[in-house]
Amino acid sequence: MVNVAVIGAGLAGCVVSKQLSERATVKILEKSKSPGGRMATRVSSQYEFDHGAQFFTARSVEFKNFLSSLLNEGHVACWNARFSEYQSTDIIRETHWSDSRVHYVGTPKMSSLADRLSTGLDCTFDVEVAKAEKKNGRWVLYDSQGEILGDYDWIVLTAPAAQTHNLLPNEVDFKAKVGLIKMSGCYSLMLGYQNAIDLPFDAAVVKGTNISWISVNSSKPKRKGFSILIHSTNNWAAQNMDTDLSEVQDKLCDYTSDILRFNVETADYLETKRWRFANSARQTNQPFFLDKKNKVASCGDWCIKGRIEAAFLSAKKLSDQLLKEL
Ligand SMILES: Cc1cc2nc3c(=O)[nH]c(=O)nc-3n(C[C@H](O)[C@H](O)[C@H](O)COP(=O)(O)OP(=O)(O)OC[C@H]3O[C@@H](n4cnc5c(N)ncnc54)[C@H](O)[C@@H]3O)c2cc1C
Repeated sequence: MVNVAVIGAGLAGCVVSKQLSERATVKILEKSKSPGGRMATRVSSQYEFDHGAQFFTARSVEFKNFLSSLLNEGHVACWNARFSEYQSTDIIRETHWSDSRVHYVGTPKMSSLADRLSTGLDCTFDVEVAKAEKKNGRWVLYDSQGEILGDYDWIVLTAPAAQTHNLLPNEVDFKAKVGLIKMSGCYSLMLGYQNAIDLPFDAAVVKGTNISWISVNSSKPKRKGFSILIHSTNNWAAQNMDTDLSEVQDKLCDYTSDILRFNVETADYLETKRWRFANSARQTNQPFFLDKKNKVASCGDWCIKGRIEAAFLSAKKLSDQLLKEL
């Protein structure tokens, strides 16, 4: 059987691995301790925060079909949030998501979806692929210590664009195109409170400030504790990408306190996460990259747009094509 290494166990990596397993021996190599990638959940003793992706929508038939069994099994649920739109510190519009397009979340955590998909797959966690090299017609992967992580017929890279670009050897014909795809950063501020706070929304988009999003994470189905999750704007993150994290946290607390009109720094739990690669704009390229001659491929949200559905579609379309090649 052909053997394939998939780099990354985010949604795209899990989807491509599951599908290729029909016809190949697949090994997933993931640098984090668990699957999910940017569909991430930070769990503390009392609180949970989906500190990456907040929710997802499903427009395509393929993604709706994919979600149906996950919904039935309880790994995905609808989040019928009370939704507000802020202009600076004022609410200018209020609605209820159950009335409009369905908004989905992983349950009991955003990362549950990848937990489910990766079950039964051969995943090695805590291992960062640092180099990919073609030797005698096969791909040899190495970690940062130069240790060999196996040799493979095919490799599929699903890391964010810049990380994929760094790993691709120069002979790969799509490397230059990947190098042109830019991703924006973001900061996530996590606030946990022992006593619930009465807010006028479960989810809010904020315009005209350095904050882009505030949600009551614990208003999502099957969550524990009372937790609030805040995202900075991509622009503010870009301007502060190398700023000390505690300084970033102080500023995000100030901006959020202005919007919510109470001092959020009194939270019982405070943490900030820096995302160097969070989102990407809509791309006009093909939905995946494939170099048949070199037996290397790449997929992920950034091939289409920085959204969960895009990550799925990119991986699905690549898998459909690769199954014809293997
Ligand atoms: C703050 C934030 C908010 C977001 N909000 C939303 C939202 O509300 N709705 C929405 O639809 N989308 C949202 N997104 C985007 C969404 O999370 C992504 O579109 C989706 O999760 C991408 O999945 P992926 O598998 O393509 O990539 P990823 O999830 O990034 O998976 C790539 C994986 O590769 C691993 N990896 C990277 N380099 C290596 C290496 N060298 N070796 C081994 N492993 C490696 C990473 O650890 C990661 O697990 C958000 C993202 C962020 C960060």
